[in-house]
Amino acid sequence: MADERFDAVVVGAGPAGSAAAYTMAKAGLKVALIERGEFPGAKNIFGGVIYRRQLEDLIPEFWKEAPLERTVVQQSMWVLGEESAVMLGHHNQRYKDPPNCWTGLRVKFDQWFAGKAEQAGAVPIYETVVTQILRDGERVVGVKTDRDDGELYADIVILADGVNSLLGKQLGIHHEWGPDEVSLAVKEVIALPRQTIQDRFNLEGDEGCTIEIVGQTCQMAGLGFLYTNQDTISLGVGVMVSDLKKARVKPYAVLDGLKQHPMIRKLIRGGEVKEYSGHLIPEGGFNSMPKLAGDGWMVVGDAAQMVNAVHREGTNLAVTSGRLAGETAIEAHKVGHFGVGALDAYTRKIRESIIHKDLKKYRGVHQLLGFGDSSLLFDKMPQALNDAIYNMLLVDGMPKKEKQKKVMRYFREAAGGNAELVRLGMKGWRAMNG
Ligand SMILES: Cc1cc2nc3c(=O)[nH]c(=O)nc-3n(C[C@H](O)[C@H](O)[C@H](O)COP(=O)(O)OP(=O)(O)OC[C@H]3O[C@@H](n4cnc5c(N)ncnc54)[C@H](O)[C@@H]3O)c2cc1C
Repeated sequence: MADERFDAVVVGAGPAGSAAAYTMAKAGLKVALIERGEFPGAKNIFGGVIYRRQLEDLIPEFWKEAPLERTVVQQSMWVLGEESAVMLGHHNQRYKDPPNCWTGLRVKFDQWFAGKAEQAGAVPIYETVVTQILRDGERVVGVKTDRDDGELYADIVILADGVNSLLGKQLGIHHEWGPDEVSLAVKEVIALPRQTIQDRFNLEGDEGCTIEIVGQTCQMAGLGFLYTNQDTISLGVGVMVSDLKKARVKPYAVLDGLKQHPMIRKLIRGGEVKEYSGHLIPEGGFNSMPKLAGDGWMVVGDAAQMVNAVHREGTNLAVTSGRLAGETAIEAHKVGHFGVGALDAYTRKIRESIIHKDLKKYRGVHQLLGFGDSSLLFDKMPQALNDAIYNMLLVDGMPKKEKQKKVMRYFREAAGGNAELVRLGMKGWRAMNG
């Protein structure tokens, strides 16, 4: 490996890195795909939902060969109270054809996707940690790895090394993320017979469902999730690191709490925990996105904070940014210019893409989460909603007009008064509407 020269080196074989490597290798560039895991996906986790649209741009009809779990036909949001849930969901058979999204497991999916890059001609270099960016003055010229004589030189280095991006820190494009810019997620994969999953979730054949969960996160800003796989369930919760620090609560205690909730308990009853894992999720969004390209380098996916937490979209943004970086590298290769002037085309492509548009739209959400204490949005309001619905549906002889007043009182009391309630509503509206 000593002193080997490539057109491009991609660091990290997650969705962003594999998309970049695939794009460039398919166009005939000499590409190295470096991954620290024993194999791609070995160390990676997500919820997880994989979307069709962006990956299809790269690999038409990929779903006919990719290791996907279930085609999602039903998506719900559950707002949990102490022993209750308000459920909002949508089931539609039209999500099957064409498919909108699937559930998946990274350990299988990442291997498949990196395998596509290999088939296209990318050179896989796995079980190898990139430890350093190599520079010639300001210009990035390669990477150093933990292998003996492990220096690789390339015209372009693509940083796809995920949320913890050591290389991004070395380049100085981002600092150590603040505790309010990342959440820590823990997840269990729970085995249940395939038929039990279908019966419990009202699914047929390969149909799958997703449930996002608000509330019962120990008064901290966070979301739970429950997704159906073929014969397992992915159950997890992600909580803002700033809140975990303040509350001194361990994330697995939050997950344990969710597992005991009467609505969740019944769904996982009899299941056997097969896997337990934890990972950070970038939550800073638009305001935390770093500089995206420079002299000889580009940064993609989670390493650039490209996650839309409101819509739990990360893999699709990773794939899109990887593709756009790959396309920029191909253009740069054609003209033989790899300086900031050439690679900044990637920044422009991102600005024109859905990544920029969607993250910009929700840029206020991060501030909303920091509005007052998290218990308001993630505990008091969910409980107030549950109490309100409970009382509206309870036939107890109270006239409906009085009931309506009582319902409003729940929200007012949770918010701390009428003015606070209006203020919160306006802040929420602004946060969700750019
Ligand atoms: C709990 C959880 C649930 C999620 N749910 C969803 C979901 O349902 N849908 C969705 O679309 N997104 C979801 N996401 C977000 C999604 O997983 C990420 O946005 C996406 O994986 C980002 O891809 P990436 O390639 O940028 O980074 P990663 O997937 O993190 O890949 C980075 C890769 O780089 C490797 N690496 C890191 N450093 C080095 C180094 N120095 N040398 C060599 N290799 C290195 C890592 O091993 C890894 O393979 C979820 C995330 C989490 C944590």
